[in-house]
Amino acid sequence: MAVTRTMRIQPGACNFLNSETGKAVSVSESLSNAESVISKICSSIALPPKFKLVAVDDPGINAIAEIDGTDRFILYDRAYMSTVSASGLQTWPSLAVIAHEIGHHLCGHTLTTDGSRPPLELEADHFAGFALARMGAAQTDALQLWSSIIPDVVSSTHPPRSQRIDAARSGWIVAVNRSTGQESHTLVSANQNAAGTYDRVLSIWINHQSYWEENQHGHPLARFIEIERGPSSVFLYDASRDMTVRLEFSQTDGIASGYWARGKVTDTLIYWSPLDPFFWPAGMRSSSDAIKN
Ligand SMILES: [Zn+2]
Repeated sequence: MAVTRTMRIQPGACNFLNSETGKAVSVSESLSNAESVISKICSSIALPPKFKLVAVDDPGINAIAEIDGTDRFILYDRAYMSTVSASGLQTWPSLAVIAHEIGHHLCGHTLTTDGSRPPLELEADHFAGFALARMGAAQTDALQLWSSIIPDVVSSTHPPRSQRIDAARSGWIVAVNRSTGQESHTLVSANQNAAGTYDRVLSIWINHQSYWEENQHGHPLARFIEIERGPSSVFLYDASRDMTVRLEFSQTDGIASGYWARGKVTDTLIYWSPLDPFFWPAGMRSSSDAIKN
């Protein structure tokens, strides 16, 4: 017999596909496989299983991360989760939804009252891709939720599906590289779109020993050779474009900073430009066309 309790959903709570307006719902606890699902995801990142997975029957909810008192909850709507996967909570798409919600908790998104915003959804998707890789999912299995199940609906709170796929794929790649002991660094860069403005992308830099590879959207983009290294930075050179990239590793949030310059770092005069155009001073854009990040 399931235990039920009433929970208050905060306005703007991170619903998986949209934003919640806030309401009281009746949730079912003591689900037969809830603990094993949470344990499976948490053990993949060496975290104690301190989340409670509870079910609701509310068509306005798909899946939500919520705090109630000192307890951190993942709520899911039974009917919604059966559309994600008819085979239950232990399938890759269902685990991806729950991992995404755990990502909201771990990233601190449930501690604010601002609710869902596109960058937060991408952080949660990135974490979910990372966690699924750690659980052993192949890339196509890990991305199944984003690539073939969720609708492509853009809103003020949720980004387009293509960006969500990229975020999940980036998380997956980072986890796989770590598990193989391969050095890799993630940084936030940007691509110029057809409208002439810039879309943020996660670019992953992978050390293949004999060369470095810049990877975006899960695909190799450019190759570099390592020419110099410091305690928290590495200098990479692309002879075909006579361009040096300097990666500075973050010790805290796992996201690196990146800069590029014309010429080699050994040149006497070098002018560094940030790889992320959001930090470019006005007028720098035309001079930075050489690097199509
Ligand atoms: Zn979300």
